Amino acid sequence: MHGSGFLKGVKRPKVIVIGAGAAGLTAARLLQQQGIRVLVLEARDRIGGRIHSRKVGGVAMDLGATWLHGTDLENPLAEYLSLSSQSTLLDNSNERLFHSGHGFIPKAEAKCYFSAFKAFNQSLEHLREQLPKHASVSDAMERFFKKLPANLNRERAHFVLKALLEDAYGGSITKQSLKQCDEDEEYKGGEAFIQGGFKKVAKSLAEGLHIRLGQVVSQIYYDAEGVRVHFSSGQSPVNGTHVLVTVPLGVLKSNTIKFRPKLPAKKREAIENLGVAYFEKAILSFPERVLKDNQVIYYLSEKGDDFTYLESVEKYAGAPTIIAFSAGQNAKNQRKISDSKKRDRLLEIISEIHGSKVPKPSQVLFSDWATDPFSKGSFTFLPTGSQRRDQKRLAKSVDKRLLFAGEACSRDYYGTVHGAMISGAQAAERLLGQKLTVKNLAKKL
Ligand SMILES: Cc1cc2nc3c(=O)[nH]c(=O)nc-3n(C[C@H](O)[C@H](O)[C@H](O)COP(=O)(O)OP(=O)(O)OC[C@H]3O[C@@H](n4cnc5c(N)ncnc54)[C@H](O)[C@@H]3O)c2cc1C
Repeated sequence: MHGSGFLKGVKRPKVIVIGAGAAGLTAARLLQQQGIRVLVLEARDRIGGRIHSRKVGGVAMDLGATWLHGTDLENPLAEYLSLSSQSTLLDNSNERLFHSGHGFIPKAEAKCYFSAFKAFNQSLEHLREQLPKHASVSDAMERFFKKLPANLNRERAHFVLKALLEDAYGGSITKQSLKQCDEDEEYKGGEAFIQGGFKKVAKSLAEGLHIRLGQVVSQIYYDAEGVRVHFSSGQSPVNGTHVLVTVPLGVLKSNTIKFRPKLPAKKREAIENLGVAYFEKAILSFPERVLKDNQVIYYLSEKGDDFTYLESVEKYAGAPTIIAFSAGQNAKNQRKISDSKKRDRLLEIISEIHGSKVPKPSQVLFSDWATDPFSKGSFTFLPTGSQRRDQKRLAKSVDKRLLFAGEACSRDYYGTVHGAMISGAQAAERLLGQKLTVKNLAKKL
């Protein structure tokens, strides 16, 4: 039974899944749907992990994953949303650039910077040939800038490229690997919000599963007989035949979960080589509209700890709401700033863009993924020195008993919800030894 997978010949298989995020829920659902006993253990008092919707002004807004990246049905998340009748709203905002102290950059000039960004991506292959193998994206930018037309404002071009690259990958450009830059894949169809927030995805994936919340896993024993999972609370351990670990890369790096025996050296090296990005969000709800709707504004400033991305999402939220985020070095620098100071600075920025002082927001929320003990960072990025094989090594199972999944394990789609789902499905396939589809996932349990 169970094809040629790890469960073949195993008497009464029981899979313990650690983590109720997109990867863990996907794997658990696919396994349970094939008749396997599954227990999901989650440290938080909620499901979803880095999917975290909160009510702002009566509407569910997301402090973690926000956009469906690619509405094309090739994207398994898009297909899942369609099969489970969940609606999305295309985000077709226009992009503008605002230079602190100077105002909006004229559209024609802004177009030149966006074109420079495109040209940079097209030059990556050439830049890789010219620079040492451990060069960073920032080294490549420096080289690329030598060839920019003399009349292009270097300072602004630098701001724009830095903001776009750090927003996309989360790592500081001085740390991002040139070798790995833009080597991931994208689905077509544009970006979309999920009506009712991303938590609806987590909720529907979790329906019918056996999930225990508030279970902080501290140790995992594995051998030829099976697996045993211990908790930091000291409560009785649980036994199973297999364990699937989907905790974030930041948690694996922190060694708060001990593996017995130790993880193989190559896996430990992969965990060390991969990077955890800084990427934080703010959500502000206002009593009246303060920024033009359907517009993304990149805020270019000399201050190294500002929010650089602001988007008015009234169309989605149904009320004047702004989402902002900081990424890379700016987000790292923000760690020491209190929420009230961040709030004041954001209001200063929004007032500057608006042209006069904006009214007090009715609600403001900030994320703090960097210090969250169950994420310890936002998502994976590929620093200099990391290699293509690191994600493969991270995803590799140990002794056919201990499996790994999560966004960090997805070579092509790391840092996304669909990447986490794909890697969860791959772990379930490895256990079952059979191909599974999104249709399997969408079936009721
Ligand atoms: C600010 C931000 C914005 C983002 N924006 C987008 C976006 O727009 N679109 C997109 O597709 N993706 C986005 N992402 C990325 C996306 O959220 C993640 O890639 C995805 O949700 C990760 O899923 P996962 O299952 O791999 O991990 P997680 O969701 O982190 O799940 C892992 C689970 O393990 C649990 N856990 C940790 N330690 C323990 C322990 N000791 N014991 C038991 N359980 C434990 C955690 O609590 C968590 O629930 C964003 C992420 C962030 C932080």
